Amino acid sequence: MKIVLLGPPGAGKGTQAEWISEKYDIPRISTGDMLRDHVARQTELGNLANQYMNDGKLVPDDVVIQMMRERLEEEDCRNGFLLDGYPRTLHQAQALDEAETLDLVLYLDVGDGEIVRRMSGRRVCSSCGAIYHLVNDPPRAEGICGKCGSTLKIREDDEESTVRKRLEVFRLQTTPLISFYSSKDILRKADSGGSIEDTTSNIRAVLEDSATSSVL
Ligand code: AMP
Repeated sequence: MKIVLLGPPGAGKGTQAEWISEKYDIPRISTGDMLRDHVARQTELGNLANQYMNDGKLVPDDVVIQMMRERLEEEDCRNGFLLDGYPRTLHQAQALDEAETLDLVLYLDVGDGEIVRRMSGRRVCSSCGAIYHLVNDPPRAEGICGKCGSTLKIREDDEESTVRKRLEVFRLQTTPLISFYSSKDILRKADSGGSIEDTTSNIRAVLEDSATSSVL
């Protein structure tokens, strides 16, 4: 099962990816997480990516494409994968297309106003990367990760001005992927403007529908 999760920042890709990857027993691969890991380890790639990420811009295609090419060759991707945050440009989509045949591209659809509201409440665990929301999905103890006990923080690129920049980048560089995948008839939309539970059930409906219409 080879699935791509497409959607603007704050659409809920990371949250929804967790159960989808469990359901199909495939690894969730997030380019954002991989890049943040490089930044934290101060690798050559991380030092290069850092400035782009803090400015809300995309890391250059050649860097990300090479990183993903290597990742998708790893053993755990034998039975498929769930990509979260990749591809994000037509160039990346074409590179992926040359290497893999995707089963489904799931587009999480949500408006800009809701995204800005969500991201201002988003908190992530500084250690395990778990995601919380002050209103929609608060941690049991304030500021503490319920999974590993580490401190929660605001991601630097979740500041409002950076979020607006990331949305603009999404509109310009990532929305062309919607028609790219529509023309291959593997794109399915799920409304993700409501609660986490509503989005989950919208996605379940799309996955069931895709299974019966043999996309999956
Ligand atoms: P995310 O966690 O997916 O929202 O990604 C955070 C940041 O990492 C983005 O704003 C980009 O700077 C960078 N990034 C993640 N995925 C990609 C990608 N596929 N291509 C280029 N930059 C990326």
